[in-house]
Amino acid sequence: MLTITCPDCQHKIEHEPNEAGEVVECENCGCEILITSLDPLKFEPVEEEK
Ligand SMILES: [Zn+2]
Repeated sequence: MLTITCPDCQHKIEHEPNEAGEVVECENCGCEILITSLDPLKFEPVEEEK
């Protein structure tokens, strides 16, 4: 289990990703975080296009 810290609200999200490219939703603020790499763990917020 990996712990991802939400870049928006610093909420800690526990998630077990299977592959890079997964999107995790922060249950606290609702933003989406894209996992770009598993080892080492890298992630970035998903930019919403408007
Ligand atoms: Zn959040």
